[in-house]
Amino acid sequence: MAIVAVVPAGGSGRRMGLRRPKQFLTLGGSPLIVRTLRALGRAVDGIVVTAPAGSVEATRRLLARHRVPGVLAVVEGGDERQDSVRHGLAALPAGARWVVVHDAVRPFIDPDLVARVLSAARAHGAATCGVPVRDTVKRVRETLVDSTLDRDGLWLTQTPQAFRRELLCEAHDKARRDGYRGTDDAVLVERLGERVAMVAGSPSNLKITTPDDLRAARREMGRRG
Ligand code: C5P
Repeated sequence: MAIVAVVPAGGSGRRMGLRRPKQFLTLGGSPLIVRTLRALGRAVDGIVVTAPAGSVEATRRLLARHRVPGVLAVVEGGDERQDSVRHGLAALPAGARWVVVHDAVRPFIDPDLVARVLSAARAHGAATCGVPVRDTVKRVRETLVDSTLDRDGLWLTQTPQAFRRELLCEAHDKARRDGYRGTDDAVLVERLGERVAMVAGSPSNLKITTPDDLRAARREMGRRG
């Protein structure tokens, strides 16, 4: 059990205006989370899933019904993604030396990408994947452009991200002590002054956040047959 994935799947779906969290929506005949876990399971030794409060048992039953292999535990998530990941880390088995964090809402995860991110993490302690920014990025305040960022060197970060277990746990402990809220796990490691490697991800590694994303995901499913 050297490489264990933590999958935050604790979001409530409220932001998308949904009654059901988006990770449980159906994509090509299976719940999104089932697709994500099946693909991820091919690249790691086991998976810890965090589910929304009140849905832990239902998530366990769903994953069992779909015979998702490799699930070690389903634990309750927290108020924010970072809290959910922290709860997942607390449920890691003793032997886990490497942790892969991957959002439940990215179902097009490619096991080869997980392997490349893990290999960069083995070399540097921490790694993420992403894609270089191709559009021009502007900061906007109240519908007016405030400034234009130099896009040179800017990347959009995705998951999977991979870490040496002790490093990620230390990063989460420090963030909690400092009351710091990050939008990914890599930033918590950056705050320790540690380096994080960036690996080329894929534009098709879609994150399903809005109804538009869900439509894009359905198109991607169709493209893949
Ligand atoms: O909400 P967002 O799109 O950032 O969610 C990214 C991932 O984090 C999703 O898989 C979502 O289920 C998870 N999440 C969580 N706990 C929360 C909020 C989001 O595990 N409280």
